[in-house]
Amino acid sequence: MKKGKLIVFSAPSGSGKTTLVKALLQKNLPLSFSISATSRKPRAGEIDGKDYYFLSAEDFKDKIDREEFVEFEEVYTDKYYGTLKSEIKRNWEAGKHVIFDIDVVGGLNIKSQYPEETLALFIQPPNKAVLEERLRSRGTESEAAMQERIAKAEKELEAAPKFDSIIINDDLDLAIKEVCEKAEHFLKS
Ligand code: 5GP
Repeated sequence: MKKGKLIVFSAPSGSGKTTLVKALLQKNLPLSFSISATSRKPRAGEIDGKDYYFLSAEDFKDKIDREEFVEFEEVYTDKYYGTLKSEIKRNWEAGKHVIFDIDVVGGLNIKSQYPEETLALFIQPPNKAVLEERLRSRGTESEAAMQERIAKAEKELEAAPKFDSIIINDDLDLAIKEVCEKAEHFLKS
């Protein structure tokens, strides 16, 4: 298989990583977003095949059995998320490097499977209060789901030192600058 590079963005949900991923994708670099598969339901405005490949839990489990995932996880109860092998292949064959917006365990999994090809970035919110406020301001989750997300986020912060770099997302413009510089340097190396 033709190989490219992989840039992983991992962070607790609410760290602002998606904004940074979008900023990097707008740069004129041969980068393409890895569309994950998930068994959670689409939120308003989300498009199948663009934001995620939305699968039923049954279809997701079939793909697990057929070993179609590079990594997958039950991120929240009954909600599976994973990266399909075909997604990396599709982008590499098209001459693109791949960007991932995935959770911390998934990010470290990609890094351990492709150690040479991967730059793993951890996006850290300035503090826990900001993280909780960002999660709540989305208003898309029930209180129970919110508590689950907050608990997971707090646990994920502990994994930061395992990443190649930690980007503190306090000042957005600075964080974008730092991410773009690191990505460009890595792609040239
Ligand atoms: P959300 O439901 O808010 O879209 O995503 C929930 C969490 O699942 C986020 O932390 C997101 O980064 C993570 N996630 C998305 N895609 C994947 C994936 O392919 N693998 C893993 N392990 N986590 C993912």
